[in-house]
Parts: sequence; C-alpha cells; structure tokens
Amino acid sequence: MKKISVVIPAHNEEGNISLIHQRIKEVFAKLEDYHFEIIFVNDGSRDSTQQILEKLARENEEIKFIEFSRNFGHQPAVKAGIDSSSANAVISMDADLQHPPELIPKMIEQWEKGFDIVFTIRTYPKHISTFKRKTSELFYHLLSGISDVNLVKGGGSDFRLMDASVVDVIRNMNEADIFLRGLSTWIGFKQTGVEFTAGDRASGESSYNLKKMMRFAFTGITAFSVKPLYLAAYLGFIFSAFAVLVYGIYVVHSFIAHTEISGWASLIMTVVFFGGVQLIILGIIGIYLGKMFKQVKDRPNYIIRSNNF
Ligand code: UDP
Ligand code: MG
Repeated sequence: MKKISVVIPAHNEEGNISLIHQRIKEVFAKLEDYHFEIIFVNDGSRDSTQQILEKLARENEEIKFIEFSRNFGHQPAVKAGIDSSSANAVISMDADLQHPPELIPKMIEQWEKGFDIVFTIRTYPKHISTFKRKTSELFYHLLSGISDVNLVKGGGSDFRLMDASVVDVIRNMNEADIFLRGLSTWIGFKQTGVEFTAGDRASGESSYNLKKMMRFAFTGITAFSVKPLYLAAYLGFIFSAFAVLVYGIYVVHSFIAHTEISGWASLIMTVVFFGGVQLIILGIIGIYLGKMFKQVKDRPNYIIRSNNF
C-alpha cells in the first residue's frame, strides 16, 4: 500500500485542527489503496493548538506533530513537514480548510498517471474582496514577468502534491528565504494542475495582512530573480544619454542666444530626484546583500522544540 503524508502548517489554529483531521479521514476512508498520515507543524502558536495536537496524537496513530521553538513562518513550516516525511507522496495544505481535502483523490489520480507535482489552481468565490484578488494577481504577474519562473495564474497556493522524488530534492535545499511556490515551479519534473474554489476560513483569523503580503512579495521576487539589480544599470544609461543630449542643446542655445540659462529650482529638483533614484537602487542592492548575509550565516530555517516521530 502506498503511503501519503499530508503536511499542514498551523499557527493559532485551535478551532480547525479536529475539523480538518475529520475531513481528511473521511476522504481517505474511501481511498482503499492508500494509507495516510497527517503531519501538523505547530508554528509557534500562542493558543491551545499544541495541547490539541498532543491529545489528538495520543488517540490517533496517523497524527504526527512537529512543534517549532517559535514562529518561523508558513514556508519554513511546510518545509519542516516535507523534510520529515518518508511517504510515497506529500500533500501540503492550509489548516483553515480553505484548501478542500475533497480534492485529494483528484490529485492522487493525476499522480498515478505519472505526474510528479500536482499543483492546484485556485479560483476565488464571488465574495472575496477584489483587493485581495487583484493584489495576488498582480503579484504573480510581476513575479512571472521579472523572474525566470512562470507561475500559473491562481496557481500560487501551497496546496500541492509532490512525489517522493521531488520531496528528496526539496529536502536537500537549504535556501535562507525559502519560497516553495517558486521553487516547485523552478524544479521542473512532470507537472499538472487541478482546479478548486477557495473557501472561507473555517475558524480564526488570517495571519496575513498587507505588510506581511508585501514582505512575502519581496521575498518571492528577490529569491528568484536578479533582474531588479539590472535596474541601476538601465537607469544609469538612460539618464546619462538624456544628460548628454540636454547638455548639447544648452551649449548650442547659449552660443546662438548669448544668454545664460538660470534655473535654481530645476537644479534642486534634479539633485533631489537623483538622490531618490540612488537610494532606491541602494535599497535594492541592500536586499540582495541581506539575503547573502542570511545565507552565509547558514542558520536553519526552523528549530524543532518537540515532535512525536
Ligand atoms: N501559518 C503558519 N505560520 C504563520 C502564518 C500562517 O504556519 O506564521 C499557517 C496557517 O496556520 C495556515 C496557513 O499557514 O494553515 C495559511 O495561513 P492563513 O490562512 O493565515 O493565510 P491566508 O489563507 O489568509 O493566505
Ligand atoms: Mg487561509
């Protein structure tokens, strides 16, 4: 019998743990050829998530848990689950039931057809705010545009099935700022997608706000592309060419008209403008430098406080 690990990161999800366990159990009850385990990764929850997990694990042998020493973030949590799996395939999904467990049979079906990665394509239900919808669309557009990874529209959630061969590759990667959505595209292999409609959170609140989403976007872009670094060079060329042109015009003008061109305001504006441009470029270089700093220190992506393996 083939074994499937379902990896679920959980940050303050006390209300959802039993629910999602129940739903997954029902799904696998109908899949006779597979047995499953659920690896919950408690990512520094401040509610009773850990107690619930320990109780559930005592009563059900398919429940595994990993407790982090603090909050490390969603991506490291998924990575931890992937790292600890020894199954034939891993399915990663959110704890809040926005990723319907009922899609699992479809994913397994594609896997059995020979696909190594089965990603999911999310379509939003009508009532999800246009803001969230648009920002997430814009992000994937931007990321696909300026980097070498092509993300499918709506294909950006961490609800995906990975074959053991893919899991092995990901386990051996130790990037400082791990970004699985890009990584799983970059990695290659045979991939296909299945569609689902994202539901609402079953209980609790989303841990992502605008600030976190912005940081996530920056992480994603700078993890997969050095194109922003070229910006400095391009802008440099454009402005230099412009300056030479304008300078030429002024020289000719002063010969013909015999007047000096005064312009204190335009001078100051130019200085301020270029000061701004230089700071932006410096900032971009700084982001990459920071990444290298993190990578060089080679600290682990997460620290485990306890588990029941
Ligand atoms: N999560 C986590 N660590 C965090 C934030 C979130 O492990 O620091 C988990 C969370 O428990 C959930 C998943 O990541 O299972 C997705 O989080 P959330 O639902 O808050 O994000 P959204 O669906 O709003 O993008
Ligand atoms: Mg959610």
